[in-house]
Amino acid sequence: MTTKEKGWKQISMAGVCWKPSTQYLTGDWKTYKPVRDLEKCTRCVLCVLFCPDGAINWKPEKNDIQFDFDFCKGCGICANECPLDAIEMKLEEET
Ligand code: SF4
Ligand code: SF4
Repeated sequence: MTTKEKGWKQISMAGVCWKPSTQYLTGDWKTYKPVRDLEKCTRCVLCVLFCPDGAINWKPEKNDIQFDFDFCKGCGICANECPLDAIEMKLEEET
């Protein structure tokens, strides 16, 4: 028997999801995408702490942060919290 996998909208209220959230690539929800100015960014990692989706990661091997666009929903919190205005939210089709 084959089962058609349900999307997140079919999960009932207070229902338990049958697979980990890491398997739902929610990045396609976004309209706006964060674009970082590498000259302005001081790698302070505040945006890493503020991102509600864990979509910005610190990469020690690069000594830099990295966006994970598979999970970034384009909420703009990182841009709002960056103390140096190093992140600009741009329409995805313009990036
Ligand atoms: S908060 Fe701004 S300056 Fe700090 S790491 Fe993020 S983009 Fe760079
Ligand atoms: S736009 Fe929102 S989800 Fe995407 S990296 Fe910034 S804080 Fe995270």
